[in-house]
Amino acid sequence: MSKNDKLVSDFFGTNIFSLERMQQLMPAQAYHQVLSVIQKGEKLDKDTANLAAVALKDWALTKGCTHYTHWFQPLTGSTAEKHDSFIEFAEDHHVIESFSGKQLIQGEPDASSFPSGGMRSTFEARGYTIWDPTSPAFVMEYPNGNTLCIPSIFVSYTGETLDKKAPLLRSIQALNKSALTMLQLFNNPATRVFSTLGVEQEYFLIDRQYYFDRPDLRQTGRTLFGIPPAKHQQLEDQYFGNIPERAFAFMTEIEEESYKLGIPLKTRHNEVAPNQFEVAPIFEDVNVAIDHNQILMDLMDRVAAHHDLAVLLHEKPFAHINGSGKHANWALATDTGENLLNPGKTPHSNLQFLVFLVATVNAVYTHAPLLRAAIASASNDHRLGANEAPPAIISVFLGESLTNVLEDLLSGVPRENSGQAWLSAGIDKIPEIRRDNTDRNRTSPFAFTGNKFEFRAVGSSQSPSTPITALNTAMAQQLDTLRLLLEQAIAGGKDFNSAVVDVLRITLKKSKSILFEGDNYSSNWQKEAKRRGLPNIKTTPEAVEAVTSAAAVKLYSDYKIFNERELEAVYHIDMENFIKQISIEAVITKDMATTMYLPGVVQYLTEITDAIAGVKSALGRTSPAVASLTGLAKKIAIKVAALQTETAKLDTLIAAAETKAAIKAKGKAFGDVKVQCEKVRAVVDELEEYTSDNHWPVPHYRDMLVGL
Ligand code: ADP
Ligand code: MG
Repeated sequence: MSKNDKLVSDFFGTNIFSLERMQQLMPAQAYHQVLSVIQKGEKLDKDTANLAAVALKDWALTKGCTHYTHWFQPLTGSTAEKHDSFIEFAEDHHVIESFSGKQLIQGEPDASSFPSGGMRSTFEARGYTIWDPTSPAFVMEYPNGNTLCIPSIFVSYTGETLDKKAPLLRSIQALNKSALTMLQLFNNPATRVFSTLGVEQEYFLIDRQYYFDRPDLRQTGRTLFGIPPAKHQQLEDQYFGNIPERAFAFMTEIEEESYKLGIPLKTRHNEVAPNQFEVAPIFEDVNVAIDHNQILMDLMDRVAAHHDLAVLLHEKPFAHINGSGKHANWALATDTGENLLNPGKTPHSNLQFLVFLVATVNAVYTHAPLLRAAIASASNDHRLGANEAPPAIISVFLGESLTNVLEDLLSGVPRENSGQAWLSAGIDKIPEIRRDNTDRNRTSPFAFTGNKFEFRAVGSSQSPSTPITALNTAMAQQLDTLRLLLEQAIAGGKDFNSAVVDVLRITLKKSKSILFEGDNYSSNWQKEAKRRGLPNIKTTPEAVEAVTSAAAVKLYSDYKIFNERELEAVYHIDMENFIKQISIEAVITKDMATTMYLPGVVQYLTEITDAIAGVKSALGRTSPAVASLTGLAKKIAIKVAALQTETAKLDTLIAAAETKAAIKAKGKAFGDVKVQCEKVRAVVDELEEYTSDNHWPVPHYRDMLVGL
């Protein structure tokens, strides 16, 4: 399906109910009311809701929709839908298409099967979905019928948060308020501040047949067994190389579908590992960007099938080969078009920039454990806890020129020849802060990249919502903290500029241990971080403890993001997700070992022992082949026994873990299960090295990862 004859700008956004479309299809007054709801958070009245619903329905019908759904993001991290058709009986019992304001604003899915963290009994965990007008409604096209999707939040009947979007929206509000109050001190004319987000999404593509041939991939998204192929990423010939045609076909279809949905995909390229790729959009308002990333992940999954491909969004589909991340590029924008993380041209705007920069550094320093918890999952543990990607230690990279500026700020003494006389000679001499694009540190989990921070530790399969909610809220808190200090200093008689410098210095002194410019992979950093007292939390069960820590409870309740009970629920759900994932992996490990690898290897062993008998009778027992084949048979026999022993141990550990009642103990027990899975894997992986291909029950890495 080539669209080369069409300009993207001609069909971009045709499947979304954009503001422009709303304006065309709604009475002017009603449109302006919806606009106030979106931009100022005003309440929507019933009549306007009805007008919006009719406009939305009429548009959706022209798009071939028969059904609508409130589209929401439960705490599982994926998206959920419950479709309803537009049909209704009119008074005369004719069927008509109808859609009311009430149906637009509120839907009632049966929430009982969504995780509620044990907060409520199943009955009470029911909830309803509420339209989020700040992210446009969109039409999902399927071969057999289109559906109108209405982005929504999901809350329980008793008002508890049960999804990922409601907290995000609250964090956006909190950040707006705190940032605006800060900006007022700088006489900044902005009337709204929002975070912006550009999500770089990494993924693997493999032939769909291989995917179906491997129960581990199909059911857990990753291979639980397998040895790396002889040639993988060591030649570094994949990164930015030519995109294979088949992958290209997939990408262009994704792009076309995304453009229709208003998702501004911008870049596509190969990644480091074989069969690994990346796609990134132009950044957008954070709420829309997160919805877009969720839609994109769904699209990728569906479109891959059209090309007989399977897309792997898992953080570590293949052991020993690079994993996938989701770099969350985050900045703060004003309604006047200013990026608050962009170093300014004037001394005054530089001072404002430094305030937002230091607030971010301090936010990450203060809430590093919470940020770590926000990206914790069984699948991301393979990156963060292991020897790759950013490590589990959260630190901030700033680049050389900013580091120099901050060091001068701390010492109060500008470095030689820097021309930075600003600290002693007065604020009007603040240097121009140059953008530092040269020394990018790819190993940092949280790096400043010119005019934005890049949170690189987010996992490829995760929703960016939770980490961004944490970041936004922590930022709101730190901006408020800085502002209070500033107001105190000014009240104490300091002039504004000196007060800012003082406050920045005090704050930075406290938080500078979070700054790290070196190689995050090195073992020295592990030691150094320990010396600095930075947390290095390797596993999900340990990491998610931070969700209910005093610091998190205070932060989230002060800013009305979550109350303590909701945080308890989030903690439980995170732990449950971890436990479920590991338990599924463990069962599949056991099943594959017992019903696939063992029989395959035993058959091979039988072939060898038959061969030994044959050689003996044909060539005599002194034939060298008898000795060598017997050696091989013995080697395999030992591994066969080991496989059975390790699998039996795994079975015992699974059973023991299942009996644990307390969630923390269960999480820990499944941590042990995970370790035992690795032991089973080690035996199988060794066997893979010398077992006949004919008897190997699943595709090898070397089959799956040789390009498309
Ligand atoms: P990289 O070198 O990391 O690939 P890019 O400049 O290509 O950096 O940007 C990566 C992502 O960051 C893109 O999605 C881009 O739109 C996004 N980005 C750029 N500026 C901002 C910003 N101010 N706020 C949020 N995201 C941004
Ligand atoms: Mg990047």
